[in-house]
Amino acid sequence: MTEVFPWFKANLERIESSFNQGRLAHALLIAAPFGAGKLEFANYLAKAILCYQPGSEPLAACGECKACTLFGVQTHPDVRSIERLVDNKGKQKQSIGIDQIRELTNKLSETPQLSGWRIAIITSVTDMTTSAFNALLKTLEEPGKKTLLLLLTDNLQKVPATIKSRCQILKPDLSHQLVINWLSKQTDSTNEQIEQAVELAIAAPLAALQILNDGVIESRKQVFCSLDQVLANQLTPQEFIAQLELEEDSLIALFAEYFHFIQCSKKLVRESTQYARVADQLVFDIYDKVISYQRAQFGGSNLQPKLQLQAILIQWFEFGRKLNHISRA
Ligand SMILES: [Zn+2]
Repeated sequence: MTEVFPWFKANLERIESSFNQGRLAHALLIAAPFGAGKLEFANYLAKAILCYQPGSEPLAACGECKACTLFGVQTHPDVRSIERLVDNKGKQKQSIGIDQIRELTNKLSETPQLSGWRIAIITSVTDMTTSAFNALLKTLEEPGKKTLLLLLTDNLQKVPATIKSRCQILKPDLSHQLVINWLSKQTDSTNEQIEQAVELAIAAPLAALQILNDGVIESRKQVFCSLDQVLANQLTPQEFIAQLELEEDSLIALFAEYFHFIQCSKKLVRESTQYARVADQLVFDIYDKVISYQRAQFGGSNLQPKLQLQAILIQWFEFGRKLNHISRA
């Protein structure tokens, strides 16, 4: 990426200004929903800072120097990217463990090999175990000179306060008009389709673009609407399964989006004031469950997706029954 996405522009300007004054924070926590290009932005920053030559402006990578070349082929010796590891059976682990963080902190204490900056990118902070968090705290408290940690999350609520308080938090500007304008330059879709995609993707621009490119607005709408009906007890879990033509894999992905949407919109909490706290927790649990199924799937597990979908639908239906009961009483 030669330019940052427009929704990160204001963030970039702030970083540029503190960088030029030599007051760049040691840790930046990029908090944005899935599909907003967090990793692209983190890579942009890392590459630009590693490339930076005194006097050059603005903060951008030249794309041609040694640092840029090495970064481009992911072999820059002063960059570490931390994500969940894949074990020897090819399965992705559930979390980022303490060993990975220890190795990282050791690496960050070594002398840099190239430009003087050492940069770590942690692609999903909330994947870290508690002991991994604790191991990272020390580095966040006493970072070496010219050390930058870029932490990414799509769930700021789940990031421990001890981590948040030691980072500068960056949030993109995902205002409706900005997202719509950007999308209309990327696709030939109609305004109506763009509006729908933005709504389905909860304003995450790249996710919305994906929806438009995949041309799956209709099936998404159908799944979302059916899940609403299950909650309203107008559709049983069995009927839900019977009426859908999608593969289970894509259904799980849509479930994840739906429950993420419910969680963000606080729709259920608003509808069930009496049960607001329970509703909040329930949606959180279901979303968590769907995400772990998805992970297990990516990790090559043989869990039976149909049974998992059924279990979620039953839970959703039962909760709906409770809500309906209250609203009738
Ligand atoms: Zn360069």
